[in-house]
Amino acid sequence: MAAEKLKCKECGSEYPLVALYVCDRCFGPLEVSYGPPTDAGDVAALRRRIQAGRGDMWRYADFLPLAGGPPGPSNQFASRAGLPTGWTPLVSADRLAERLGLREVWVKNDAANPTHSFKDRVVAVASARARELGFNALACASTGNLGNAVAAQAAALGLPSYVFIPADLEEQKILATSIYGTNLATVRGNYDDVNRLCTELSAEHDDWAFVNINMRPYYSEGSKTVAYEIAEQLGWELPDRVIVPIASGSLFTKINKGFREWIELGLVSGREPVMNGAQATGCAPVANAFAAGQDFCQPVKPSTIAKSLSIGNPADGPYVLELARRTGGSVDAVSDDQIRAGIALLAETTGIFTETAGGVTVAVLAELARRGDIDPDERVVLLITGDGLKTLDAVRGSFKAREIDPTVDAFDLAFETVAA
Ligand SMILES: [Zn+2]
Repeated sequence: MAAEKLKCKECGSEYPLVALYVCDRCFGPLEVSYGPPTDAGDVAALRRRIQAGRGDMWRYADFLPLAGGPPGPSNQFASRAGLPTGWTPLVSADRLAERLGLREVWVKNDAANPTHSFKDRVVAVASARARELGFNALACASTGNLGNAVAAQAAALGLPSYVFIPADLEEQKILATSIYGTNLATVRGNYDDVNRLCTELSAEHDDWAFVNINMRPYYSEGSKTVAYEIAEQLGWELPDRVIVPIASGSLFTKINKGFREWIELGLVSGREPVMNGAQATGCAPVANAFAAGQDFCQPVKPSTIAKSLSIGNPADGPYVLELARRTGGSVDAVSDDQIRAGIALLAETTGIFTETAGGVTVAVLAELARRGDIDPDERVVLLITGDGLKTLDAVRGSFKAREIDPTVDAFDLAFETVAA
């Protein structure tokens, strides 16, 4: 598929493939639209071509909006291709499934990306497209993970970068951004304030590629690769249900777009998976609207430990609501205590330590299972978007290490184990 144009999601107006993100006519968001792939119709050939591709997300370059193609096999140096991203593990979570009374649960572990979150995918596409368009600096408004990804990708590409985050972010995320030598601004305000500032700055600095503002149509397409990988890793099959955390809602809508594109091409068969969205009750504009039967989200002021999901005014909220309803899914919210329990449950049953956003997703899965919303025979995929080492405060004090003197007696006393 070759990217052909930008198209308004609301009124259908078309634009060339430039750094533009809002429709001039109706202020709707713009999305990349594609022509058919050169070997459309020959499913076997298309699958072979994908399988023979790079061992990262660029194996799906045919479905991504780059004019000059991906960083190819002859272009494998980090300084040109950027960080190797994607093709993260899809892990069978048998013990988690058993604990929840389900049959088949898989964990797509996107913490395995270079900066330990799914944001490396969207940044890879945005920065590749930014260079095609001649930009010489990367920038972003971030709740944390995106800042990590932009700073690292810019360092890998040898570009300057500017990262804007709320000042009250987790220390781990601030350190893991600063280390790359980025220009880091910690803004006194919440993410929605940061985003507003960056929208203004992007008009002032039209030579900067703000990955999630003026590059947003390209950036968001990177999330489709999560869906492609899940389908390919399941042996060119679709899951029945996918559970995805919701911040702006972009990831949720693009995962669905990825599945639909492959169904249309015949690369996979069956119906589009049921889509469940996951939010924290401390920032649940989409879950609130879903529960109230509304088509639009009422903005909220975030207050939750799930800071990476703390977007009070989610741009893609209405599209998430439409999709969740159309696929027979839902958007649910869970408390901070449920989030902590979700982090622990995933860690104990799979060996995967996720950040708070993953705790939200696990807790929503547990809630759906408890409510009986999931048929026991379903194949469920849970999307883990980030690493637990980035949000250590969330679990501090929730477990107990026993400090002992270096003697066998002290150990036996502390752990009440006596050798037979
Ligand atoms: Zn429009």
